[in-house]
Order: sequence, then C-alpha cells, then structure tokens
Amino acid sequence: DTIIEIKDLSKIYKNGAEVHALKSVNLTVSKGEFMSIIGPSGSGKSTLLHIIGILDTPSKGTILIDGKDVSKMSDSQRSRTRNEKLGFVFQYHHLLPDFSALENVMMPLLISGKSDKEAKNIAERLLKDVGLEDRLDHRPNQLSGGQCQRVAVARALANNPDIVIGDELTGNLDTKSSEMIYDLLRKLNSKYQQTFIIVTHDPKLAEKTDRIVRIVDGQIVSS
Ligand code: ADP
Ligand code: ADP
Repeated sequence: DTIIEIKDLSKIYKNGAEVHALKSVNLTVSKGEFMSIIGPSGSGKSTLLHIIGILDTPSKGTILIDGKDVSKMSDSQRSRTRNEKLGFVFQYHHLLPDFSALENVMMPLLISGKSDKEAKNIAERLLKDVGLEDRLDHRPNQLSGGQCQRVAVARALANNPDIVIGDELTGNLDTKSSEMIYDLLRKLNSKYQQTFIIVTHDPKLAEKTDRIVRIVDGQIVSS
C-alpha cells in the first residue's frame, strides 16, 4: 500500500540567485514504513521533508498523499490534510512553556474537537508510550531535552496521523538520548503502524530505521 508518491519533483528557490534544491526526485513510500532521509548539509533533505509535510510546494512535478495530488488541493484542503494526516517533530520541541507535558499533548486533541476527558485519556496513554507517565504535570523547563522531545513525539502522534515527520529531531541531543528516541520511534512505529519519515545527518541513527534514502545535491542517490 502506497501512502506517498513523488514523481519528477523539483524545487527551485528564487530569492536572489536560483538554488536547485531538488532535481527530478522520484520516491514511493509504503504505509507503515520507518524511513530516514540522510545526506550532507544543504543537499535538500529539509526541502523534501517540508514538501512531504505540505509546508512548502514543489516548483515542478507531483506529490500524491494517500492518492491525492497535493498541488490540486485548495488551501483549506491542504491545511485539513496537514492537520488530519500529518504529525511533526522538529529539532526544537516547541512545547508551550507554561503548560504541563499532559496539557501540551492534550492541546492538538482539544483543538480537533475531542472532549476534555477523551483528550486526557489519549494524552496519558501516549505519554506512557514515551515513558513519561511519571512526568505528566511537569512543565518543559522541569524536563530534560530528551524528555521534552519525547513529549513532542507524543504530541505529534496525538491526532493519530498517517505520517509522522521528524526534521533533525535529535539534533540537540547527546548520542545516548538520540538513540533512545530512535528506539522509541521504532516501538511506536510497530505499535501504531504509522509511516515515519525522519531527516538526519547522522548515518548511525539512520541505520536504526528500515529504509535509508540518501540525497546528494538535490538528487536521491540510493534508497
Ligand atoms: P538540508 O536539509 O539537506 O541541509 P535544505 O533542504 O535545507 O538542505 O537546503 C537545500 C538547498 O536549498 C541549500 O542550498 C539551501 O541553502 C537552499 N535553501 C533552503 N531553503 C531555502 C530558502 N527558503 N530560500 C533559498 N534557498 C533555500
Ligand atoms: P536545516 O537545519 O533543517 O537544514 P537550515 O538551517 O538550512 O535548516 O534552514 C533553516 C531555515 O532557513 C529553513 O526554513 C530554510 O528553508 C531556510 N533557509 C535555508 N537556506 C536558506 C537560504 N539560502 N536562503 C534563505 N533561506 C534559507
């Protein structure tokens, strides 16, 4: 079962000098894959991930998410697809500082219309999944960097997205915490069967995933 199909996709940035960030990329991702994108700095990893996450648009080519052509969607369809089908974790956790771990994970659930009780149940289960059941009431500044990223992972999974996207999500963590996060992602991927696409520049972390897509100079050189 295919969840993402990218055909002949190019991205050219045109502010000032033209930068060909992606050059005729083709990529098919199956449902439930645990995949990493690696490559040197400036090779186009983030650009590709942002296009998959419907945060940016291609200059040429197509991307189908769950069979639907993103370029043919209206703005409201795109944001609905982003909210319903995608979960994001970035390098910085972007947790709300004045709210507890539990409240941070409840937030997207409340926004999508769940009752307080339902949101609390789901958030508690996810925080248990990431090993933070004894930190529910802690605020971000009372948690370590690795713990904050685990809260961010739980939050990304809150609305049960089909695709979870991580951009250098362990970029600020030490090796041990980074490996722990990847082991955790593997566990979640097996449990919930969501598609995980993680950008990293660290080949050792990429080896923990099931499939490595390598980008050099805007082109996929191996997969
Ligand atoms: P990576 O994530 O592999 O480091 P990026 O996708 O961030 O690579 O960048 C690919 C290329 O596109 C780089 O040359 C970068 O400088 C350029 N680039 C990225 N974003 C922009 C932008 N918003 N405007 C202009 N150039 C950009
Ligand atoms: P990453 O660490 O994820 O590769 P970067 O640090 O390269 O990201 O880029 C951070 C932000 O700046 C991104 O939103 C990217 O689109 C933008 N950016 C990157 N390179 C350029 C550039 N040459 N010109 C303008 N914006 C850029």
